[in-house]
Amino acid sequence: MTAILDYRPNTLACDTKLTDEAGRVAALRRYEILDTKPEEPFDRITALVRTVFGVPISIISLIDSQRQWLKSALGPVPQEIPRDLSFCTHTIRTRAPLVVSDARADERFAQNPAVTNPPHIRSYLGVPLETPDGYNIGSLCAIDLVPREFTPPEIEILKNFASIVVDELELRNLARLDHLTGALSRRAFLEEAGQAIGRLTRYAHPASIIMFDIDHFKLINDNYGHPAGDAVLRAVGAACTALMRDCDSFGRLGGEEFAFLLPDTVTGGCAAAERFRKILATLVTPGYPEIRITASFGIASLTPGMTAEEWIAAADTALYTAKHDGRNQCRVAV
Ligand code: GH3
Ligand code: MG
Ligand code: MG
Repeated sequence: MTAILDYRPNTLACDTKLTDEAGRVAALRRYEILDTKPEEPFDRITALVRTVFGVPISIISLIDSQRQWLKSALGPVPQEIPRDLSFCTHTIRTRAPLVVSDARADERFAQNPAVTNPPHIRSYLGVPLETPDGYNIGSLCAIDLVPREFTPPEIEILKNFASIVVDELELRNLARLDHLTGALSRRAFLEEAGQAIGRLTRYAHPASIIMFDIDHFKLINDNYGHPAGDAVLRAVGAACTALMRDCDSFGRLGGEEFAFLLPDTVTGGCAAAERFRKILATLVTPGYPEIRITASFGIASLTPGMTAEEWIAAADTALYTAKHDGRNQCRVAV
């Protein structure tokens, strides 16, 4: 845990990441935080910033491809701002804090609508929110309506608060992931399936769950030992994550049982499942080249009115048929 939170971005790699906009937006989207409701841990940090700095406004701002979206905003600020009008767009261009002592005297901001119109911002301190892999996804800011200086110790304090914001985002992501395989936890996968149901039924888009269970996995543990079984699960997790497209989800539903959620699978996911089955049959586990696995697959398309649990249960029933029919094959729910 310490190793994950104690991040020190590699400065050589970082500089290219300041201009890698696609990577930056992908890093932000991995947190799945945009358009979520206000949450206590983030509001607590902005409340602390207001108190410690004695400023009326503090925000946690995230810069999406076209807009600035605020995860937490205390004080008189609009919720969503076009990206090119936001102070934070300037903050995320560098790794250093942005200090604006008097916005009216600063040519970058003097004509900014937030300066010329309410709330009439006059001073600003913003620190980039830098992910462990070196992307600036947004900023934490202290904003005042009068000109003011920010001292070096104050800047250090805001940098520390910004690290806490990123730690919070990282911890939330870790809680969603299975630590052995890197796949979503069962709970997170069910949540994703629930969200997909809402989204997909609204637009009548097809989607499939492809569930699979490794065949005779117990024999791997029995013959090679539990650490070998773990290594196989890790290799399966890595291979499946590499196969995924951005819009897919992949979760570990139980011991050696996994599932993909694939939107837009017009063919019902059969072709994809058959491809995954062949890839798993050739998978080589690092450190255990002698181990070969196969898996049995069950596929279920989303039908209107289904809950996430029912959708998974339908795939599970098809998977049971694949096991019963001899394993290492795919079956579609009827
Ligand atoms: P089937 O083809 O019918 O699926 O047979 P199976 O042996 O794969 O199924 P079974 O349910 O009998 O055994 C699953 C085994 O998976 C038993 C359990 O000890 C093992 N297992 C579950 N989680 C883990 C894990 O995290 N690591 C390891 N090494 N083994 C695990
Ligand atoms: Mg099994
Ligand atoms: Mg099983």
